[in-house]
Amino acid sequence: MSNNKRIFLSSPHMSGNEQKYIQEAFDLNWIAPLGNNVDGLERELADYNAINDAAVVVSGTAAIHLALRLLHVDLDDTVFCSSLTFVASANPILYQGATPVLIDSEMDTWNMSPLALERALSEAKADGKLPKAVIVVNLYGQSAKMDELVEICDAFGVPVIEDAAESLGSTYKGKKSGTFGRFGVFSFNGNKIITTSGGGALVSNDKEALKKSRFLATQARDAAVHYQHSEIGYNYRMSNIVAGIGRAQLEVLDDRVAKRRAIFEKYREAFADQPGFDFMPELEGTKSNRWLTALTVDPEQAGISREEIIEALNNKNIEARPVWKPMHMQPLFDGVKYYPHEEGNSVSDRLFEYGLCLPSGSNMSDEQQDMVIDEIKSLLKK
Ligand SMILES: *Cc1c(COP(=O)(O)O)cnc(C)c1O
Repeated sequence: MSNNKRIFLSSPHMSGNEQKYIQEAFDLNWIAPLGNNVDGLERELADYNAINDAAVVVSGTAAIHLALRLLHVDLDDTVFCSSLTFVASANPILYQGATPVLIDSEMDTWNMSPLALERALSEAKADGKLPKAVIVVNLYGQSAKMDELVEICDAFGVPVIEDAAESLGSTYKGKKSGTFGRFGVFSFNGNKIITTSGGGALVSNDKEALKKSRFLATQARDAAVHYQHSEIGYNYRMSNIVAGIGRAQLEVLDDRVAKRRAIFEKYREAFADQPGFDFMPELEGTKSNRWLTALTVDPEQAGISREEIIEALNNKNIEARPVWKPMHMQPLFDGVKYYPHEEGNSVSDRLFEYGLCLPSGSNMSDEQQDMVIDEIKSLLKK
């Protein structure tokens, strides 16, 4: 192990303004709960995304859970979800005791395949059991084919939850990622493009629904001076201190997107002539925040495997990882129904087999990125 500072996939990158908002909360003794920073972050996040309303909560996972509650997902219901994602997209389905059905990706965006979705919905309809919701994930900042996916869901009358935890600041046909479904979800976890140390948001044009989400997120207290409850609630609201960090981070979001895109371009240019290296595409008409630089490494063509690259980088104290392991391959979802892109052609299996994520943090220096590139190049020479 070298003594160099570890280079992470994505680590928190503060702007310097966070303390100002935190200090304000201290000065007003508005530490918790809620308060000016929570209201401010909700307004600023809604404005940034050009959507009616935002509710900030303790995590992206909590936001997905609330979206499922708002759509009345219950025991014996089914919910469709992208298979190639982080487990947090699908876990809330299990919290509700509902049954997930997993949908494969397509190659243009690595996200939900409209073909597989249409097949799955047609079969569900024939069985008389349409899902209560479809959770569409935007992987590594790249928007899914939202027009196609929303059109299919509309045709079956099923609402979309857009898991934009990784795609804050990205756009699809000029509109902000996360604003295409009935609900959108963002995450401010420590490794995301901006962070509050931990947090998330639910966004929607439906203000009434978001009002209800705030109610559910504060223990579902009925309007009474005594504590009265008629529904299950949660303790999911973001604190006023944490929201202060978010306000300062949101101010620099566009800079962070620009930096991550530059990092992606530098990797792509460095390996432009390398056979077997295929960088994650960017669908025409979309702009990815390039949260993580992802590529596939075909060992036959490249003469080196993804595993060898990860191991060599790790030996130099550089973090690299495979792409997410699809949910249909996880022990947790053993026996769950899965719809591949086409019969006998599972795109996410292949992306998982060859997919590699490289360090992409916006606070990574040029020299650090050069180290990553040089290390991979020296492996390729061997
Ligand atoms: C990070 C992430 C989440 C969950 O967000 P948390 O804030 O960590 O709970 C959900 N979905 C995807 C795709 C993510 O990457």
